[in-house]
Amino acid sequence: MEGQVEETPVARAVKVLLRSRTRLLVCFLTLPLYIAAVWALLSNGREVGAFMWVYIALYSLFAIDMVRRRCPSCGEQFFVKSILLSLFTKRCVHCGESGNGG
Ligand SMILES: [Zn+2]
Repeated sequence: MEGQVEETPVARAVKVLLRSRTRLLVCFLTLPLYIAAVWALLSNGREVGAFMWVYIALYSLFAIDMVRRRCPSCGEQFFVKSILLSLFTKRCVHCGESGNGG
């Protein structure tokens, strides 16, 4: 590939971090679809319990995955400062590492 830039290990690590963020973000974006699906199931007199648990489990898995991610630069939690999870950040909430050299 032309114009391919050599990736630093930090940039690669940040890319992996952002992928776990994207998963949770996609989960959030599909929330209206989920609500519509639950609505449709309920109006058909179906059981939604299992469906709801699967969705909640997915959410929890992705959220825990994000919380566990560590910044390759400072070693702190990449997305978590105090108790808040920053879903919309592309930089480390501690040192600002973005994988692009600043
Ligand atoms: Zn950091």
